[in-house]
Amino acid sequence: YYDKNTLIYLDGAFVKASEAALNPFAQSLHYGYAVFDGLRAYNTHNGPRIFKADKHFDRLKKSCEAVGIPYQWSNRELIDKCYELLAVNNLREAYIRPLVLTGTNMHLTSSTEANLMIAAWEWGPYLGQNLLRVCISDIKRPNPKSFKTDSKISGQYVNSILATTEAINRGFDEALMLDHEGFVAQASSENIFIEKDFKIYTPPAKNIFPGITRQTVKNICKKLNFEVIEKQLTVEDIYTADSAFLCGTAAEIIGIKQVDDVIYQEEWEHSIGASIQRRYKNLVLENENYEVII
Ligand code: PMP
Repeated sequence: YYDKNTLIYLDGAFVKASEAALNPFAQSLHYGYAVFDGLRAYNTHNGPRIFKADKHFDRLKKSCEAVGIPYQWSNRELIDKCYELLAVNNLREAYIRPLVLTGTNMHLTSSTEANLMIAAWEWGPYLGQNLLRVCISDIKRPNPKSFKTDSKISGQYVNSILATTEAINRGFDEALMLDHEGFVAQASSENIFIEKDFKIYTPPAKNIFPGITRQTVKNICKKLNFEVIEKQLTVEDIYTADSAFLCGTAAEIIGIKQVDDVIYQEEWEHSIGASIQRRYKNLVLENENYEVII
């Protein structure tokens, strides 16, 4: 992710990643009490463009508010810093990671101060470009009554690490996780859509992390006149779908070929998901631009 020349943005200045000092007594380090987000810059014909930057920084702020981390930055200043960060690191396309760190005390109380860093690095599609083999994980998503599951809180990602590690150990690419009610919620860091009889289904927002890409997919479907039905999905619904795909900023849109030992029969290239994937690529590259989607 970085070499000796890589610069990160930290509390108002660009500093070498290799020399950035982190506080050993930070709550974020000990308790995962930190908030982050993930954005992507694409190399468009207008130069590097960060897709839906405002939405991501709105969410960063909202995530901080959800767990009582003070947030004093404006979207405008942070988006400007992201573009500067790309320029100083000579990046034309990148994954961008803002992280709000907290605390100089070891108490389990909310924080009165925060630091902000932003890093950027070249990162291809997070799950690669080949169709995925996923498994239903034994690791469940946290109950939204126990955790802020709709926010990007660092500590929460141990849950995702457990699930992906289990999936990989079982020979799969990614984990599909159930919510506390036993319905299929999402993958470890992507949302899921399935296609069945020319209709698109996705779990409703209540027990999932409702991603920005999920919303973009819904907008694309609306534009393409594909009906999207939000409904709690059972494992059986997933097994009996015609096709399925995952979506997220890092993974973009990626088809699934197999869930546990069920292999989808529909050719991915003929699926609705594949059309959505093509439109998404055009959109992030600004080859097409329509109000309803941005
Ligand atoms: N679920 C989780 C748990 C995530 O961390 C992410 C990535 N932020 C997503 C889904 C997808 O969200 P987005 O489309 O906003 O990247």
